[in-house]
Amino acid sequence: MSKTETHHFQAEIQQLLDIVIHSLYTDKEIFVRELISNSTDACEKLRFNQSSGQPVYQSEIAPGIAVTTDDKAGTITITDTGLGMTHGELVENLGTIAHSGTKAFLKQLSEEKKPDVGLIGQFGVGFYSAFMVAKKVTVLSRSFAPDETGWQWISEGMGGYELAPAADLPRGTKITLELKDDAKDFAQENTVERIIQRYSSFVPFPIELNTKRLNTVQAIWARNKNEIKEEEYNEFYTFIGHDHDQPLFRLHFSADAPLAIQSLLFVPQRNFETLGMGRIESEVNLYCRKILIQAKAKGLFPEWLRFLKGVVDSEDLPLNISRETMQDTTLMQKLNKVLTSRFLKFLDEQSGKDAAAYEKFYHEYQRFLKEGIVTDFTHKEALGKLLRYESSALDKGKLTSLADYVTRMAGEQKDIYCLLAANREAAEASPYFEVFKERKFEVLFLYDAWDEFVMEHLHTFDGKPLKLAEKAELNLSAKKESALSEDASKSLAQWLKETLGDKVGEVRASQRLVESPAVVVDADKFMTANMRRMMKAMKQDGPDLPPAKQDLEINPAHPIMARLDAMRQKDTALAGSVAEQILDNARVAAGLLEDPRAMLTRLNSLLEKVLTKD
Ligand code: ADP
Repeated sequence: MSKTETHHFQAEIQQLLDIVIHSLYTDKEIFVRELISNSTDACEKLRFNQSSGQPVYQSEIAPGIAVTTDDKAGTITITDTGLGMTHGELVENLGTIAHSGTKAFLKQLSEEKKPDVGLIGQFGVGFYSAFMVAKKVTVLSRSFAPDETGWQWISEGMGGYELAPAADLPRGTKITLELKDDAKDFAQENTVERIIQRYSSFVPFPIELNTKRLNTVQAIWARNKNEIKEEEYNEFYTFIGHDHDQPLFRLHFSADAPLAIQSLLFVPQRNFETLGMGRIESEVNLYCRKILIQAKAKGLFPEWLRFLKGVVDSEDLPLNISRETMQDTTLMQKLNKVLTSRFLKFLDEQSGKDAAAYEKFYHEYQRFLKEGIVTDFTHKEALGKLLRYESSALDKGKLTSLADYVTRMAGEQKDIYCLLAANREAAEASPYFEVFKERKFEVLFLYDAWDEFVMEHLHTFDGKPLKLAEKAELNLSAKKESALSEDASKSLAQWLKETLGDKVGEVRASQRLVESPAVVVDADKFMTANMRRMMKAMKQDGPDLPPAKQDLEINPAHPIMARLDAMRQKDTALAGSVAEQILDNARVAAGLLEDPRAMLTRLNSLLEKVLTKD
């Protein structure tokens, strides 16, 4: 008499199989990951039982996983020497779904047109993913308990399964899949090797494929920092980063609260985005207990940290959750916040420990940090600490942090001042710098056109407002001895306005010029010359911005102004030409003069007049 028992699947399993088999899946290959992940669990449990002193059948056999493919027979087999299953466990584990809420989940799945296969494992039904590709699944299992025997479990999916005793099995579980015609590719060694490398490279038990050992790189992120050698870190980086340079920075950390995280992050030596390779993609992979959940996980870090490479492993992740559902879970957002804060803190610490290395990093990656300030409110403060600029108080080439700037602020200085210029020389020669120089207020020199936007977004640092030099309401400390009286200045300003007409907004006497005769200031409180230039450049195809209204501030103490005032009584035409030239010169200083041709013609005729004077 046959000892074979015939069992029906629990109703929910039937329903699940129906969804698994009859729906369209894009990601069939994940069944390999699911089965290897079950084998890994079985090995881990065995190791635990062994270490807690329980008697173990064939205890001399180490826990491990072997995969074999047979393309002629069209099968793939996954064998483990884990803890195995008894008769009762086979019935319980592979014939029923224990988890509550499964029914609701199944209902939801069956209502979706294209249910997501990645969700299956979330409810502890990963084993059934085998039926996506197999027409028949055979499980041979022998429990670790010494007085047990082996069992054979066979199912063709629909209907149920058969259970029969199987003698002389080694400890563990062997699962053979007879592949469906359209899934025969999974009997190819190459295909399976690629899948295992992708998802299971860091499984902590040896995995062999057709006797070849696959996973040789350790999941060092899960090990104690103090026990890891420098070479191991570098080797690991080469493996996951596909980069033969050594990384510029490395952050290895673990946290228990608010989330259990183990992470190993690297900053590459070079910023690949500036190497003309287009926009880079984050290469941080998300793992749950060493099994890949998502390669290049979207949403794990903000976009502006896309230069990072490495690994994040969190036990708190529901295993096997799918790509699509992962992206906007609150869990992912929590992870993102924790990881980002930790990484920014690390950069700040690093800048204190090794300023030269930090400057190298800053040189490569400052645009990303600035992108963060402009696009991400959450980490503004931490990012502000990471900025570095040249400053009027330091020698050329030396950089300062905003924090250091603040420690140097003295006396009446309330604001942090910044001045955008093409380079150091231009900054120091800028008419906008004069008042700061005279009052001995430090000014940060910004050489990147985006920096003004960065400062606008940052708005304050350490409670101190950030002010663009052009917009600073500052007067010289002492009124300069002026060649023109206040009344004369006013009337000269008035005459200039009449002469220049619509080309300027207001004309007024300036309180901030020392050496320059005049300066232009944007009439809009929130605009600078540079912002106008950039917005124009960005809007090339769009509608024109309203014309820039520049106010002209004149320096009544400047000899040019005194002579211009005298000239306008004598030779209005010449004075008018000079007035136009003064405005254009101020525009040049502000980087606002677009077409110099008219200016050159005028300048030549002025030169002609100068030369024919005597
Ligand atoms: P999950 O692994 O998420 O619990 P599965 O449907 O994949 O769900 O597996 C159900 C159960 O079957 C597992 O919890 C485990 O107890 C048992 N099982 C599956 N595969 C193995 C294996 N290779 N060795 C031992 N037990 C296994």
